[in-house]
Amino acid sequence: MITCKSSRELEKMRRSAAVTAGALDSLRAAVAAGMTTAEIDALAEDLIRSHGGVPAFLGYQGFTGSVCTSVNDEIVHGIPGTRRLNDGDLLKIDIGSCVDGWYSDMACTIPVGHVSAEAQRLVDVTAEALVRGIEVVAPGAHVSDIGNAIQSYVEEQGFSVVRALVGHGIGTSLHEDPPVPNYGRKGNGPTLKPGMVLAIEPMVNAGTWKVRTKPDQWTVVTADGRLSAHFEHTVAVSQEGYEVLTLSQEQPLHQAFNRLGQHGKGDKLGATETAGRIQAFG
Ligand code: MG
Repeated sequence: MITCKSSRELEKMRRSAAVTAGALDSLRAAVAAGMTTAEIDALAEDLIRSHGGVPAFLGYQGFTGSVCTSVNDEIVHGIPGTRRLNDGDLLKIDIGSCVDGWYSDMACTIPVGHVSAEAQRLVDVTAEALVRGIEVVAPGAHVSDIGNAIQSYVEEQGFSVVRALVGHGIGTSLHEDPPVPNYGRKGNGPTLKPGMVLAIEPMVNAGTWKVRTKPDQWTVVTADGRLSAHFEHTVAVSQEGYEVLTLSQEQPLHQAFNRLGQHGKGDKLGATETAGRIQAFG
């Protein structure tokens, strides 16, 4: 069942999103070669809790981290642990918070130190793919229009989109309807309506789109061992377009997101306030 959130509920989601985005801002600033993924995880938990949230992933189906840390060929769901980051790694942090019963979910890819030109291009294409997916969000569009925008751009750039994992609705549960694939033809799936909130999250591989799961039963890796990148935002369908609830308050996750405007609002009405998000992260 797809739910449409009221303006009051959206205000709560903005507060949750502000906690998540603020925490990720701090994590991005902290990441450096030599750190372990467990250290990043501990910092994430502290950032989320100290701003009134609960880490959404901790304990989810038995997951032991507060965030997912996936490195290089690891696409998503990497478990924080003793792995130490090296210069040249691509680190994906997936982070979610629950505040007052409302969830938010976002992810970004962080180049650690100096990465190869190919790795950087993969990061740039994935960020741009998410922007393109967000830009089609508007009442009357179909869910598959998002995936179509993402897939056509990614494949035109010579990379592939993961099929086995998809984005999702979000609200009082971390994962709600509808599924939001990063592929597909235009005009399929549910029609978007104001108040729907979607976690849009392209996972882009340098090589094959095929994946496998590591023996830890969580970490999803590329089947060919090549690099993968991931960006995610929690996005509300507004009256005339979209509102990116998890827009970072400091630096955008990537310069591609500058195109979404200061408040990430793709509509002309965009007058709803952002004061709540600033207060929430204080
Ligand atoms: Mg998600």
